[in-house]
Amino acid sequence: RFYCSLSNRSMALPKVLSFCFPALSGSQSTVRPIVEQTEHSRPMVTLAEIERLPLPIDKYIALRDMKTKGSDDYYRLLMRHTQEVLPFIYTPTVGEACQRYHELPLTTHGLYISLEDSGKVLQKIQALPQKDIRIIVVTDGERILGLGDLGANGMGISEGKITLYTAAAGVDPKYCLPVCLDMGTNNKKLLVDPKYKGLRRPRATQTEFDSLVSEFMSAVKSLGHVMVQYEDFGNTNAFRLLQTYKKTACCFNDDIEGTAAITLTTVLAAVRGTGRQLADQRIMFLGAGEAGTGIGQLIAYSLHKRSEMSMQDALQHCTYVDSKGLVCASRRNELQHHKIPFAHDIPFCPDLKTAMKQVRPTVLIGVSTVPGSFDKEVMDMMCEFNERPIILPLSNPTSKAECTFEEAYKWTNGKVIFASGSPFDPIKNAEGVVISPAQANNAYVFPAIGHAASLAKWTSIPDDAFLLCAEALADMTTAEDLKVGRLFPPFSKIMEVSTDVMAHVMWKLPELSQLPNAQNMTKEQWRQLASSHLWRPAGSPSLSSKL
Ligand code: NAP
Ligand code: MN
Repeated sequence: RFYCSLSNRSMALPKVLSFCFPALSGSQSTVRPIVEQTEHSRPMVTLAEIERLPLPIDKYIALRDMKTKGSDDYYRLLMRHTQEVLPFIYTPTVGEACQRYHELPLTTHGLYISLEDSGKVLQKIQALPQKDIRIIVVTDGERILGLGDLGANGMGISEGKITLYTAAAGVDPKYCLPVCLDMGTNNKKLLVDPKYKGLRRPRATQTEFDSLVSEFMSAVKSLGHVMVQYEDFGNTNAFRLLQTYKKTACCFNDDIEGTAAITLTTVLAAVRGTGRQLADQRIMFLGAGEAGTGIGQLIAYSLHKRSEMSMQDALQHCTYVDSKGLVCASRRNELQHHKIPFAHDIPFCPDLKTAMKQVRPTVLIGVSTVPGSFDKEVMDMMCEFNERPIILPLSNPTSKAECTFEEAYKWTNGKVIFASGSPFDPIKNAEGVVISPAQANNAYVFPAIGHAASLAKWTSIPDDAFLLCAEALADMTTAEDLKVGRLFPPFSKIMEVSTDVMAHVMWKLPELSQLPNAQNMTKEQWRQLASSHLWRPAGSPSLSSKL
């Protein structure tokens, strides 16, 4: 725990060590100093110090402690080394952090609104010291990553995601608010854990849920223009929530729509790598939840909008296997609403492999949270059907991925075009070439879309925004990138990438904007608007000069 004191910046590492471990004081001189001087002669914790901490969770805690201190050091580190620190503030580490949130030494950065706050939600928001709230990420903790119901511990996911608005799209942190709606939990372990801080009651009924969300959305509306991102709600509520507010509020669901956009980006770029068209693809999903059906809807929308295809025909390109087998017409009566559009008139198959034999997919997408489900036999089949199989095990965190990069590479003899949800280490192939797996990271999408929607004061965020975003991102991948398995622009350029996406979507969708001159603005003017709102902590080089 000595590391906590490091973020107290006034104490150098040798001193901290001798303080915590007096026996070490003799060897102080071998310890590297923890502070580096910034351009403004302010000391800060370095990336090397974070990297030296033994466990990812220690790094997560150390980074949060920096943020808690409220200085710009946290943001300087985050924005200078986004790619390196991302795994410790976001997936995969955020998964463990949420599971253990109640027992870790953490200061909460967000706002809890519980069922017991019913009738007082607006008061609670107004009581915050933060007065100009423009971007909210809200969860109810019911389906955190692939880890299930984590109740009030879900706050960790809202906090992690909101940080990315700053790190990846330059939103000033003073406009950002992470929220956790405490609707109770059905997680039995948490309910009996004395350290658990959330409500000790079963999850809200649908009526209670809808009523608290409705009060929350009205309260938010009264604050001025606020963009709301729904995150990690359980799938029954998630689809209903989105349907209720999508047309009338500036909001989106990242698990449904953000995932759809980054996966469409992946598929568009990967298909280009095979030299074929989206319309030639048969896409099979393992998992038919928020992520899976959201992706299928956007792929179909893309086919419909960009070719002559009817939406009905476009939907036929996507088939699903859920926990009960192939989603098909004979199951129509028992299927949840979001699966119905994909219940095609094809014979039922009880499992993935039988379904694959019937459909012969060109693209295989894993959004099932079942690790190991893309085994060697599945890969062999993909190789039999395709010269370059596209395989995307998207389940998070890493422990839930349907296969690892190494397995996919080995079992397809290097033919796979691969992207995963959580990061995997690069591997060296037989020729000694290092191959890095692509990560279908929603952070390419949600911060840019959300910031654009906020800046242009969009009235709502329609499917077109996600389609345009995916197309713009896929266009940034060059033929050279595709040759070495890269499907996305480098994450180290995320701020430039986000600015491009923001300019593109704001320019293409002026009808959504409430800015007075929106209809007449050129793309360059939208770009300038985006660039001029990229917040940087003091002491960082300005980005806008590079854009
Ligand atoms: P969800 O709504 O709970 O859906 C999970 C789906 O998996 C359900 O359709 C479920 O079937 C199915 N499933 C469960 N066990 C199965 C089995 N043994 N065989 C076949 N299907 C099975 O969850 P979600 O929001 O779609 O998220 C799923 C995963 O995707 C999570 O791990 C999440 O972290 C990940 N994800 C990744 C990204 C990304 O990579 N960018 C983005 C968002 C989400 P039933 O419908 O029959 O219950
Ligand atoms: Mn999510």
